[in-house]
Amino acid sequence: MNDLDCIFCKIITGELPSDRVYEDDLLVAFRDINPVAPTHILIVPRKHIVDNNSFGEDDEPIAGRMFLAVQKLAKSEGIHTSGYRLILNTGLDGRQEVPHLHLHLIGGHKMRHPMG
Ligand code: AMP
Repeated sequence: MNDLDCIFCKIITGELPSDRVYEDDLLVAFRDINPVAPTHILIVPRKHIVDNNSFGEDDEPIAGRMFLAVQKLAKSEGIHTSGYRLILNTGLDGRQEVPHLHLHLIGGHKMRHPMG
């Protein structure tokens, strides 16, 4: 269920390169190409879901898996205790640039706060 024009679908299939840090049957996670902090990882469903508004009842297991992946990644990145931010941009006013649902995991001591 990939979108041929979607940059994140291409990363998921391996057509485009990425610094992949986690994957399972529902998700792929890779480092943001333009990080705002020492840890900046994008957690992305394998299924092409455009945004949070497109998230359906059948997609509920994906949401749970995304938050469990956050825990795993926060531990492996060493920010589980120090803390982190999760950002999920949706639509124009939400400044979503890539129309494939993704959760930003942002942490580390040099973290810039994109929301102030
Ligand atoms: P958003 O504004 O929430 O849609 O964020 C999209 C994010 O995707 C931005 O932080 C970009 O830096 C990141 N990004 C765009 N292209 C790539 C890529 N090829 N590999 C990794 N991250 C990317």
